[in-house]
Amino acid sequence: MENGRLIVITGPSGVGKGTLLRSLLKRHPELHLSISATTRSPRLNEVDGRNYYFVTRDAFQEMVDQSELLEWAEFAGNDYGTPRRPVEHSIQQGKWVVLEIELEGARQIRQTFPSALRIFVLPPSLETLESRLRGRGQDSEEAIARRLSRAKAEIDAANEFDVQVINDDLELALSKIESAVFAEQRVNSP
Ligand code: ADP
Ligand code: 5GP
Repeated sequence: MENGRLIVITGPSGVGKGTLLRSLLKRHPELHLSISATTRSPRLNEVDGRNYYFVTRDAFQEMVDQSELLEWAEFAGNDYGTPRRPVEHSIQQGKWVVLEIELEGARQIRQTFPSALRIFVLPPSLETLESRLRGRGQDSEEAIARRLSRAKAEIDAANEFDVQVINDDLELALSKIESAVFAEQRVNSP
């Protein structure tokens, strides 16, 4: 059986992780995106079971207590975590699984899955990050402020990651992520 693989994508909220991942998954259906659990309320266009499993704080705590999460962290007033079983099951089956998670979770994965490829997505500037967060038009002023204050600390940790990708031109950022993810395959191909 081929070895499965874990790929972690991290970067400040609003940097474009979701946008990049949508394109990446469309181009590479062999990649499987892990669906996280969160206590955050759904945004207007979000669907339970597709974007996240939206759960109550009690239900989230129960998952933590039962060790059902591979990693979890608090972010801007809500909890987020990766359900353990689907990820472990997919990797055992040889699949490539992508986690889109924040910094604290990525640090936990470094301990539990040291072989994971960890990619950090950077904004061209903090000003651009702020205008993307506002342009998305999905978060309250308070949520935007909390996300921006967390962004600075996250960006400072970018060097902990295997690969850093600046998301300025979307297409360029996407091809850098593709190169990182499929690097070994390309080396082996004729
Ligand atoms: P994240 O998932 O990291 O929170 P999103 O994917 O929701 O970020 O992107 C935040 C906003 O920035 C969205 O409105 C998206 O369309 C926009 N965006 C993403 N990447 C780029 C880019 N390279 N150039 C300009 N706008 C972008
Ligand atoms: P958002 O509320 O914008 O969807 O996500 C906020 C932050 O939580 C983002 O940085 C996102 O990557 C992160 N996040 C989403 N799912 C998880 C998860 O399962 N675990 C952790 N640690 N972070 C997550």
